[in-house]
Amino acid sequence: NERFREILIDNLLIVFMIIAVIVGIGMGFGLRNHWSPDDEVKIFYLNFPGDLLLNMLKLLILPLVVSSIITALASLDKRASGKLGLAAVCYYMTTTLIAVILGIILVVSIQPGFRGNEIESTGSAKRSNPLASLLDLIRNCFPPNIIESCFSKKETEITYENINMTKYNGTHNVTELYEKEVSAKIKTQSGMNVLGLVVFSIFFGCTINHLGERAKILLQMFEALNDVVMVLVRLVIWYSPIGIMFLIAAKFVGMSDPVKIFAQLGLYFATVITGLVIHGAIILPLIYFAATRKNPFIFMYNMLKAIITAWGTASSSATLPITMDCLVDNNGVSPVVAKFVAPVGATINMDGTALYEAVAAIFIAQVNGITLDISEIIIVSLTATAAAIGAAGVPQAGLVTMLIVLTAVGLPTEDVTLILAIDWLLDRFRTAINVIGDSIGAGILNHIFRNTLSSLSEGQIDDAIGL
Ligand code: ASP
Repeated sequence: NERFREILIDNLLIVFMIIAVIVGIGMGFGLRNHWSPDDEVKIFYLNFPGDLLLNMLKLLILPLVVSSIITALASLDKRASGKLGLAAVCYYMTTTLIAVILGIILVVSIQPGFRGNEIESTGSAKRSNPLASLLDLIRNCFPPNIIESCFSKKETEITYENINMTKYNGTHNVTELYEKEVSAKIKTQSGMNVLGLVVFSIFFGCTINHLGERAKILLQMFEALNDVVMVLVRLVIWYSPIGIMFLIAAKFVGMSDPVKIFAQLGLYFATVITGLVIHGAIILPLIYFAATRKNPFIFMYNMLKAIITAWGTASSSATLPITMDCLVDNNGVSPVVAKFVAPVGATINMDGTALYEAVAAIFIAQVNGITLDISEIIIVSLTATAAAIGAAGVPQAGLVTMLIVLTAVGLPTEDVTLILAIDWLLDRFRTAINVIGDSIGAGILNHIFRNTLSSLSEGQIDDAIGL
């Protein structure tokens, strides 16, 4: 009976969320007739309920990531945690590479940058060394100050105010359009160095495990913290439909004229979306089925709250609390697996972002009239993978890390402005695929490690998950 009530409530929440998305889009388009995207003050107020949701979710990320990873690794037996970590990394790398290859196949065969050639590149190609960005990524794994990693405001800003806008030609007064978008600047505020925190928590958890009795008190503390956070997550979930509705409404009011943009970038948009759909609805489910022999679509339906939140917030980090809740509560994934795989996945495993990076980079090459040779395509696929790993789980982080890919093959980095106008929308879809990728990974690893996990006695499992 209790279980039945839970399922009912859960489905009710899914219905609320779907209604929220539909009403949000409708409200956005409805208000567009009365407001213009220039009504920034009005949009600011419209955003308020959504800001509250984002703040609440972001607030939970730090205690959740740290306490989840530490308790998972501190309570698994050493050999199991090594194997789980290795299997997780294999899954992340394989699926990310598959996504990149899929993106490359699509963009090379559809050629969105050679057709519909209404936009023109403005930048000049200069090849610079992507090694520095790569080293930066690794440096982030080893933060000098753990407290600072929790709140340091890292802001990446790309401004192209100096670009000569007349170089964007086109029929629909695109000059003005891009000028506005570009001067709006791309900003990512990751707020914290999650990657550094993840790496630190992994070592911290393993060391607690190693010290056993001596560090038990720390384990208990993090277990309690984790339990408390998960209860808070459940409260936030009830508010999420309202937040999502307003986030979406504000975004749709504020966007540039969709008709103009789609005339320019429609084929590029379609290429990315096709890739994301093939990856999320065919490839990942097939991998899940092959590994577990279970119905992947039931698994994905059970993740729907997380998937809608990912679409609504465009942030896989902000979605993490809901992802973990759905994994454990709806899909019966062992908390130990969910606590390790989901936070690490949300930080480094981004299939949707990787696919998009590859498509966007080659699209920009095509707009520049460049056909990349096979060695350059290999460089694109490797750097797209690195760029996806390096992207924080925050809105439009992928756009910023794409500079790694562009510089690696000597494409003009200024040309990210070509795809800027549409990026906020693509971001939502790729974030949803990122979250699906993380979840399916957790589902598969849970299946593979079920015997190891069930060989722990009941008491040990309860102990391990902090019940
Ligand atoms: N917004 C994406 C995420 O949070 C990252 C990106 O592709 O920009 O997963």
